[in-house]
Amino acid sequence: KVRVRFAPSPTGALHIGGVRTALYNYLFAKQQGGDLILRIEDTDSQRFVPGAEDYIIEALTWLGIKFDEGVGFGGNYGPYRQSERRNIYKKYVDQLLDAGHAYIAFDTPQELEAKRAEVSNFQYDASTRLQMRNSLTLPADEVNALIEAGNQYVVRAKIEPNEDIHVNDLIRGEVIINSSILDDKVLYKSADELPTYHLANIVDDHLMEVTHVIRGEEWLPSAPLHVLLYRFFGWTETMPQFAHLSLLLKPEGNGKLSKRDGDRLGFPVFPLEWHDPKTGDISSGYRESGYLPEAVVNFLALLGWNPGNDQEVMSMDELIQYFNLSHCSRSGAKFDYEKGKWFNHQYIQQKSNEEIAEMFLPFLEEHGIKAEFAYVEKVVAMMKDRVNFVKELWDVCSFFFVAPTQYDAKTTKKRWKDESATQLAELIEVLRTREPFDIEGTEAEVKAWIESKGYHLGNIMNATRLALVGEGKGPHIFDITEALGKEESIRRIQRAIE
Ligand code: GLU
Repeated sequence: KVRVRFAPSPTGALHIGGVRTALYNYLFAKQQGGDLILRIEDTDSQRFVPGAEDYIIEALTWLGIKFDEGVGFGGNYGPYRQSERRNIYKKYVDQLLDAGHAYIAFDTPQELEAKRAEVSNFQYDASTRLQMRNSLTLPADEVNALIEAGNQYVVRAKIEPNEDIHVNDLIRGEVIINSSILDDKVLYKSADELPTYHLANIVDDHLMEVTHVIRGEEWLPSAPLHVLLYRFFGWTETMPQFAHLSLLLKPEGNGKLSKRDGDRLGFPVFPLEWHDPKTGDISSGYRESGYLPEAVVNFLALLGWNPGNDQEVMSMDELIQYFNLSHCSRSGAKFDYEKGKWFNHQYIQQKSNEEIAEMFLPFLEEHGIKAEFAYVEKVVAMMKDRVNFVKELWDVCSFFFVAPTQYDAKTTKKRWKDESATQLAELIEVLRTREPFDIEGTEAEVKAWIESKGYHLGNIMNATRLALVGEGKGPHIFDITEALGKEESIRRIQRAIE
């Protein structure tokens, strides 16, 4: 059975690239009839940010990404928070030490600093480890004495040089990296009695029987070490398959998308608004900016994947059906924020008028408007194809709720003719007797009247629009009159000619 995991570190808000990784894991799991696990990788206490874990769960829940197991979801492979798995890791660290695949190093931060200053491009590896203070250079009794005396140490992987390591990647094919460029990564720190990311990640993927590791490209350089760790543990047979997703790029395509690009270009890079507890900064989120979760999901799904045809609007179910790793791109995907707006527009059209009206109510309330729900629904039906966001509805349809108190000067100059007032006074009489006050019937009657009088149709329509709306915009005139009703339509025209 396919088992995949999303394994964020709670070091801050989950950025949009992380959301995409979670989404692809979800799509893959569901398509394969497998399970998705949420594992919190919090072994780096220095970088832990309170609230980040809750934020991640809330964001993914909002987007409809559902977990089968994990922190907050239960399951048989827990605990799913690495800080709670402390006791599990110790024996694996010892296993590597006993087998000679790892060693203990005592170098203090100062000593490492000094070495870096002395040797350019210093890397702790086969070429330098013998110059350092570790269990490969110190006698065994001294190592024990140092530990007993309470000296802090780390455990490092012992990487043998000059070996080509093969990483089979489901997106990139075979990636070969020579072990000489790898350093002896720290796997465990005595100071917090916790393994580092690399060790905890491999042990947990093994114990949780993860079959596929789908994660961002930034982890590709770690993959050879991970392959070696599977070998050191003797777990090669059950090693998960890897898929490294390409980066999200700046809209201009030059480099990785960052939080600063969001600030610079004015779009959110986080799913939800984020209040950074360390800096106090507030970053905008897709949810608070008025995005529908379906739009965000659809937008992100296509940043680095395509269904093999040019279909763009796809529901979560369709995405699950079509998703495949072989259509994930190897090159980075440019973050096209305008496309995100376009998707939101599409999903606003797809939703029922009732749903959109419901979302529009708080904005009406903000403007002090209390209207009948059926009326709001009717206005939404007429106007929703003009907006990308529900909040933009107010700008295009406020005249349905508030009669104009002034008339746009430019439009008036162009559209209000000398004869407009007398003509509209006559129009009022036509409207007064019109029954029912429907769209087609009223239109036909008004047009017949205009024709019988030999008036200019366009001029009268323009002047009427100005009277009803206050400017030259809005939908079809008789859609407006029908919605406003006879009384209100006449009142507005009356007011304009006074
Ligand atoms: N904790 C890592 C992260 O924050 C997980 C990387 C992986 O999926 O292996 O991205």
